[in-house]
Amino acid sequence: MNQNLFATFATRMQERDAAAFITTREGRGYSYREALTATERLAGALTELGVTPGDRVAVQVDKSPEAILLYLATLRVGGVYLPLNTGYTGEEIHYFLSDAEPALFVCRPVNLDDARSLAADTGCPQVATLGTAADGSLMEAAAQATPRDDIVERDDNDLAAILYTSGTTGRSKGAMLTHLNLGSNAATLAEAWRFTEHDRLIHALPIFHTHGLFVACNVSLLAGASMLFLPKFDIDVILEELPRGTVMMGVPTFYTRLVADDRLTPEVTANMRLFTSGSAPLTAETHQAFEEKTGHAILERYGMTETNMNTSNPYDGERIAGTVGLPLPGVEIRITDRETHEPVPRGEIGMLEVCGPNVFIGYWRMPEKTREELLDDGFFVTGDLAMLDERGYVHIVGRDKDLVISGGYNVYPKEVEQVIDELDGVVESAVIGLPHPDFGEGVTAVVVPQPDADLDEAGVLDFLQGRLAKYKQPKRVFFVDSLPRNTMGKVQKNQLRERFQDSYR
Ligand code: ATP
Ligand code: MG
Repeated sequence: MNQNLFATFATRMQERDAAAFITTREGRGYSYREALTATERLAGALTELGVTPGDRVAVQVDKSPEAILLYLATLRVGGVYLPLNTGYTGEEIHYFLSDAEPALFVCRPVNLDDARSLAADTGCPQVATLGTAADGSLMEAAAQATPRDDIVERDDNDLAAILYTSGTTGRSKGAMLTHLNLGSNAATLAEAWRFTEHDRLIHALPIFHTHGLFVACNVSLLAGASMLFLPKFDIDVILEELPRGTVMMGVPTFYTRLVADDRLTPEVTANMRLFTSGSAPLTAETHQAFEEKTGHAILERYGMTETNMNTSNPYDGERIAGTVGLPLPGVEIRITDRETHEPVPRGEIGMLEVCGPNVFIGYWRMPEKTREELLDDGFFVTGDLAMLDERGYVHIVGRDKDLVISGGYNVYPKEVEQVIDELDGVVESAVIGLPHPDFGEGVTAVVVPQPDADLDEAGVLDFLQGRLAKYKQPKRVFFVDSLPRNTMGKVQKNQLRERFQDSYR
């Protein structure tokens, strides 16, 4: 049997004949049947542009329904979809094209000249364009092409996509994801979150990241749900659309902005059945505030580019604020000693390792990194520190790379941040370790005060006396207007470490 993920989608798409698949606010969109036909045309165009099975198709375009059709058409011809962050600069694209050696690079119409020279420099044979109004040379080629209604045979372990990680802790790595990785996770999530053809997903996430692309689109496709594609999170638009939606998938910043808005009420969210959060930690405070204002408990889940989704709070049953829930069906997790990989007792903090059909097969052209992180017994070392509580819920404590080791003691930034955030006048904080002559690393707090707050370093330090053990208390406190975040709402601690690196020297 053909294990091409697209074959599963195609069956669903045929059944859903007249129903909406993707629409935009402007009313542009595709029914399932139209989307299926469009993938046949795009598949024809990809073939005429020289894409053969196993070839990478690199894509840096703005969000549009056609970009998803391009993803589907790439699967259809047996290609490997490789989406790129729309914020990447020419230099960054140069790296990705040299690393991935795609057969085709699809760019925005305005970037065509730059893209051509990048392609020439990196040996990429073809460039095409795709705009947000169904325009560009790719769509023109599709209109002219001989449609392909076949679906190229793929095995479970053939590559469906290479997705670069967000680059939060260093240079982005290309995660090789198979048809089985994506398909199994989509099926698991569609069931766990009770997706059906009656769902209408409010889609305001970018589509170059696992959250907006695979979690949102694959799950909707499998369930035959419809999606409203919004170019970005615009709070006015979201509040207008919530009454017509059933599900929203968000990053924590969506929710912090919503709870700060008086227009968020139980009435506005009355038609919604599910709000999910992921890609970065959702604070218990935001979770509680959202529930108070709407009656909805946000369902937080945890995943990463390399593994798709690993854990989720339950659909039925208790969604516990500050936790990422239970391992999803088919996903095994263990918490181990950071050095020995030996399991630690329940309730203790250690490295989170995961295993399952959702876990990628390795980093593209990084065999050593792959060997370090994908263990012989199939478990992947996530790089996240976590604790499993007595009910089996997973608590993400932070990244291993953000752990501060001060005077030989482990300091978990999240624990310190939580205490600082309790102080009146603090909006949020980030705790980092900086080179320190005596302690190795000095615990350092970077605090965002409320505009009218009367806070200073001594006041913060004073507040922490007696609330945290001495070795956990920051040696310095700095104030900033806002924390640096990427498009997925992840705090860029690297940038903070760089900015304040000389504080103790
Ligand atoms: P890089 O691997 O390049 O440094 P990245 O890890 O940020 O970047 P992603 O794969 O986009 O790249 O993000 C996965 C990470 O996001 C996880 O390892 C985890 O640290 C964080 N994350 C995702 N969901 C949650 C969550 N619900 N709570 C806390 N952290 C989360
Ligand atoms: Mg990572």
